[in-house]
Amino acid sequence: MLSIRTEPRAHAAPRRISVLGATGSVGESTLDLIGRNAASYRVVALTGGRNASRLAELAIRHRAQLAVISDEHCYAELCAALAGTGIETASGNEALLDAAERPADWIMAAIVGVAGLQPTLRAVRQGTCTALANKECLVSAGAIFMAEVARHSTTLLPVDSEHSAALQVMRGAAPDEIEKVYLTASGGPFRSWTREAMAEARIEQALQHPNWSMGRKVTLDSATLMNKGLELLEAHHLFSLAPEQLDVLIHPQSMVHCLVYYRDGSVLAQMSCPDMRTPIAYSLAWPERMDVPTKRLDLAEAGTLTFEAPDPERFPALRLARQTLSAGRSAGTVFNAANEVAGEAFFEERIGFLAIVALVEATMDIAADLTALTPASVDDVLAIDAEARQRALSLLPRFASRR
Ligand code: NAD
Ligand code: MG
Repeated sequence: MLSIRTEPRAHAAPRRISVLGATGSVGESTLDLIGRNAASYRVVALTGGRNASRLAELAIRHRAQLAVISDEHCYAELCAALAGTGIETASGNEALLDAAERPADWIMAAIVGVAGLQPTLRAVRQGTCTALANKECLVSAGAIFMAEVARHSTTLLPVDSEHSAALQVMRGAAPDEIEKVYLTASGGPFRSWTREAMAEARIEQALQHPNWSMGRKVTLDSATLMNKGLELLEAHHLFSLAPEQLDVLIHPQSMVHCLVYYRDGSVLAQMSCPDMRTPIAYSLAWPERMDVPTKRLDLAEAGTLTFEAPDPERFPALRLARQTLSAGRSAGTVFNAANEVAGEAFFEERIGFLAIVALVEATMDIAADLTALTPASVDDVLAIDAEARQRALSLLPRFASRR
């Protein structure tokens, strides 16, 4: 058989791996892959938010050097579970930042929300390889984040399935060869619901994603289509694509993850069964490929793949995301902060489903002074994020009655 590989294998020695957000959906899938080939990796740090018992189990199973739980109330439980194992423990925000700084060759950034921004930046500043699941980092602090990536010559590999797909089909292409990139969206559980029905949607219905099993925030974001809005901003920053080069296509089967239109009329797409281990593996094996035991795509079994344009009337999140994209500056910071507040308010049953996007829009409306700011530092971003959260919270009572 003809072999085209001439360069040496990229990863000879065990690679030092850290997972920020190890107890989450992406974190667990990452460790599933690591555990299947344990001799190839040395696990440095694992972090979790509150689930101390699960973090301890993972730390023991993967022989981590360090386990950090962010919530200090959960520290005693972590210490008890890891007593006598020799695994170092710590808790709190500073400890999380220290974990992200522990020298590692590959770091998975899988904390959810803007809470992941500072730890992810610490990881990026190591100048090694950061696998980025946390899309909120880019939505909220895109320009500053990408400048840090460039400054430290960090290899930044997207883990979001659509962005991993985009990287796969654009790999090696010159920027002027690309005309347009379509991110696909399943459409979520309410794809065919009326606005009237969505107004009454309950938490458990919003959390029933048709194809993907994920953490609750991203699952809710998929139901409002905010997730695809966040992903437009994510793609803009990752690939330096102009707003008019980015679009969304509803594809309920979640088998095609991204379509890239080239200037000669060719369209290249990436396909796989909806299982996050495929995009995670792409970032883990980079620049090679690795074996992944996912279900293989069976197109004969799937039969029909369908595509449709998103409905802007029923899903206004995409229009809002486009406005955010065009506005630039701090619009992404405000958009993301308001969405985090609105999502939490929905989970606390303070507002109804349709009020999520309405609250984000209302926050953007009263925060023109914030969105116009150009942040010079991460501290500026976090200050704008905090102020935007306050404004969103101040609007909550106005939306509470609409449930
Ligand atoms: P998740 O809720 O399942 O897990 C989040 C992880 O972050 C957990 O380990 C949690 O303990 C930790 N965490 C939460 N709040 C924290 C805080 N304040 N401080 C420190 N740690 C905290 O989320 P997930 O579904 O794994 O998603 C993680 C990120 O990846 C999100 O940004 C999401 O949009 C993105 N993503 C997820 C998927 C998926 O399939 N789950 C797909 C694409 C992108
Ligand atoms: Mg995605």
